[in-house]
Amino acid sequence: MTIDSQADPTASGRVLEARMVIGGKSVDALDGGRFDVVDPAHGRVIATAPLGSPADVDAAVAAARATYEGPWRTFSATHRGRLLAAFAQVVRDHAEELAWLETRNVGKPIASSRGEAQGVANTFEFYGGAANKLHGETIPVTKPGLDFTLREPIGVVGLIVPWNFPMVMAAWKLGPALAAGNTCVLKPASWSPLTAIRLGELALEAGFPEGVVNVVTGPGGSVGAALARHRGVGKVAFTGETTTGQEIMRLASENVKKVSLELGGKSPNIVFADADIDRFCAESPYAVFDQTGQDCCARSRIIVERSVHERVVEGFVAATRKVIVGDPADPATEVGPMVSQRQRERVLDYIEIGRNEGAQLMCGGGAPDDAALADGAYVSLTVFDHVDTRMRISQEEIFGPVVAVIPFDTEEEALRIANDSPYGLSGSIWSRDLGKALRVAKGLESGVISVNTNSSVHTEAPFGGYKLSGIGRELGMHALELYTEVKNVFVDLRS
Ligand code: NAD
Repeated sequence: MTIDSQADPTASGRVLEARMVIGGKSVDALDGGRFDVVDPAHGRVIATAPLGSPADVDAAVAAARATYEGPWRTFSATHRGRLLAAFAQVVRDHAEELAWLETRNVGKPIASSRGEAQGVANTFEFYGGAANKLHGETIPVTKPGLDFTLREPIGVVGLIVPWNFPMVMAAWKLGPALAAGNTCVLKPASWSPLTAIRLGELALEAGFPEGVVNVVTGPGGSVGAALARHRGVGKVAFTGETTTGQEIMRLASENVKKVSLELGGKSPNIVFADADIDRFCAESPYAVFDQTGQDCCARSRIIVERSVHERVVEGFVAATRKVIVGDPADPATEVGPMVSQRQRERVLDYIEIGRNEGAQLMCGGGAPDDAALADGAYVSLTVFDHVDTRMRISQEEIFGPVVAVIPFDTEEEALRIANDSPYGLSGSIWSRDLGKALRVAKGLESGVISVNTNSSVHTEAPFGGYKLSGIGRELGMHALELYTEVKNVFVDLRS
């Protein structure tokens, strides 16, 4: 895509023509098909992108394989690290353009998109530094000799990412995959192809050889599935819905690919009576309504000690009413529309389900009144109180701006309710009693926990889920394990 690095590339009604990146070239789908990319805030077509097919996946895997077996293998870890550092700088140089592409494509507030573009650069910077710190070990085996391990790249890896954090999820996978020496085929979600394509182009600008980062676009059921089952791909890293992750495991089994999965969540936000209730109420609406609730880490179940239940609900609802919902292009906007009208309908159905299940609606519960938002896929920020943990709105991932409040009486009951979920991604605990907070943190069946804050993601620390929330840990040094094979070498030292 030819675009100005400092501005909204879709300004003045321009419709972008995006192309896939295969073997370092910008290409159309082999059969020439294209699909529309829509701005969910205004319902306007902002771009078209190639409607790829399995044949395009074959071409991308062949390009990635040729580079892996060719020049890329000779690059030292330090060289790969420098390229990642250069990639971080190129992303910073293009941060404004990337932020606008994301905002127009998925309706994310521009302030969030700007932060995420910096987050992408930070991720590449971290893995640039990590590349030459990945090493094997020597092992004191029983037989006389020397035993050591090598950490080797897997080869060609398939990276399949969702639409809620398109460029961030791509970076979480590209960073460690490239640091470890793999070549990649990246597949963005159909609703959000633009920043992934742009990252593929910018990787070339940063100096990565052609064929190291390839980007294919098209439907998950055909293009994504072809990548997940491809015999030329040694590993598939996936972020998305749990049911899709289950299908990917089945497809990957054909050549026993390595699989890592970051899936759904229904995370608890546990608040004890001795917590700083004012801070909880001020901060926690953002923990579920940021990204319009389209966040795998969304703290969508507030589990609150009964003695402060009414105070917490009152304070949380008051803070929710202050959250600024509006046009994502406005820098003051905190929450934009859903990614699509289809997703909006799904969330409105869940709100109806909550009403029918007997939960008490405290605010929201439909579309916002504001006429200026009528064309967009908006949903009002919705709080249900007196939810029973067995209700569907407590058990199922809604992936929209809906929170369920569930009261408890004892620490044991809080933990039981929190763990009464098929998911186990993240969770928060609010209490001034650190002993109690840590007991609950140890008891929670979740991979990412925060105490007296809702902050889940740190580039340097592992991120991932228990139970139906996934397999493997992204970010930090842990993620490198997902993209390497361990080879053991034993040397007989007898003369
Ligand atoms: P999705 O599962 O519908 O799609 C994700 C990706 O998989 C897309 O690129 C899609 O095209 C592709 N895909 C779909 N069907 C496929 C198939 N049969 N074979 C191969 N690929 C296929 O998910 P989504 O709706 O894009 O994203 C929302 C989901 O992602 C939510 O459940 C959310 O919790 C989850 N998510 C998890 C994390 C995490 O880190 N745990 C982060 C972000 C999002």
